Amino acid sequence: MTPEEFRQFGHELIDFIADYRERASRGEFPVLAQRQPGALRAALPRSPPVQAEPVDRLLRDLDELIVPACTHWQDPRFFGYFPSNSLPAAVLGDLASTGLAQLGLNWQASPALTELEEVTTDWLRQMVGLGDRWRGVIQDTASTATFVALVCARERATDYGATRTGLQGATTELVVYVSSQSHSSVEKAALLAGFGRLQLRVVPVDEHYAMSPAALEQLLVADRAAGRQPCAIVATCGTTATTALDPIDSLAQLAAKYQCWLHVDAALAGSAMVVPECRKLWEGIEAADSLVVNPHKWLGVAFDCSTYYVGDVEHLVRVMSSNPSYLQTTADGTEPNYRDWGVPLGRRMRSLKLWFVIREQGVAGLQTRIRRDLGYAQWFAAAVDAAPEWRRLAPVPLQTVCVRHEPAGLFGEALDRHTLAWVNRVNRSGEAYLTPAQLDGRWMARVSFGTHTTMQQHVAALWTLLQRTV
Ligand SMILES: *Cc1c(COP(=O)(O)O)cnc(C)c1O
Repeated sequence: MTPEEFRQFGHELIDFIADYRERASRGEFPVLAQRQPGALRAALPRSPPVQAEPVDRLLRDLDELIVPACTHWQDPRFFGYFPSNSLPAAVLGDLASTGLAQLGLNWQASPALTELEEVTTDWLRQMVGLGDRWRGVIQDTASTATFVALVCARERATDYGATRTGLQGATTELVVYVSSQSHSSVEKAALLAGFGRLQLRVVPVDEHYAMSPAALEQLLVADRAAGRQPCAIVATCGTTATTALDPIDSLAQLAAKYQCWLHVDAALAGSAMVVPECRKLWEGIEAADSLVVNPHKWLGVAFDCSTYYVGDVEHLVRVMSSNPSYLQTTADGTEPNYRDWGVPLGRRMRSLKLWFVIREQGVAGLQTRIRRDLGYAQWFAAAVDAAPEWRRLAPVPLQTVCVRHEPAGLFGEALDRHTLAWVNRVNRSGEAYLTPAQLDGRWMARVSFGTHTTMQQHVAALWTLLQRTV
């Protein structure tokens, strides 16, 4: 591709993306891909082309083959999973990142990458109201951040046991405490970090699905009495099913009392802290050891951009560092080498899309959108509360409303079949997308607000659609 061809194709691609975004925001596509499994695979050649193809065929295939097999996360009627906004500014920031093609192996390999990551993670720290002892780094996902946190917890509890025999030589069992509402990535992180399933305590939750500090303390006491060592507590700020909020303050006190690492998974809810009135939801956060917030969820930064904050960078670097001779430079010791702040060695310039979004929106713009989405959820919750046969199943502190249609006489598995059937009908209609989930062993529908193109009329239309569909 010549520079001139790149320029031309690039402009066409930007036009294509702009058109796609416009069409998606007008609701021209079914929100959920209406394709059978394997349909795209069957439409693609089984082998790669031997001869070069003209690039305009790529654009055509994007339009004709790829788009119809997409579920449209940027559609204003997308109410599934969680918001994963990819604001236009983030798309351009990501493009700039790939265009500059920086690779941050150490400070010298890209001073810009290193220093912009330092500055943007510090901006975000200020935006969510964290104190200045916190230092941030961009990871790919919250799953990775939580894995890093649990490795750090393990190494603190064992006084850097990995430098000796690791957990293979451990004589004391190390225990990790999670709740029944923790994200699946937490259990996965614990198992990968070397804890066994038998060293994982699932702490019961209260009637609002928040971890019960009294139940946690009972488990801590029992483990200590049995000669086991409490190692880490993973608290969630905004659980996946219902956006429940574990009481960080009380959990932090227990973490201090039993010398546990406290990791806070605020992957979704962290973005809400951009508005000061939400910060009471994570009261006590300053006492945590580590924290993850995903700007790639509700803040508008394109996937993947997950920010991991720690109080003790020295410990993080001691656990995560590797220092082969070919990566050493004279800036070591004064400048951060982010390869030593997580798992991967190489890193791309994810900070650019964060920088673009923060500057293009301004803190005020981001606050407005978060408040708008909180408002949508309150409006929808009030509508559900006022409707006969509908039930709201959990408090609505953020942007997710958990609902069920409960006609008289339907219980148990019959009610489950009813719920899954109407959610399925909604999704197959292409007019909205919802993800069902289980709560207390029964199916329900999660209605998650926060797509940047969603307007009040879409929220009202969803409510009409649900009532019409059940
Ligand atoms: C989305 C989410 C995760 C997983 O996030 P990834 O970045 O995809 O790994 C973990 N925990 C919570 C609470 C989440 O909302």
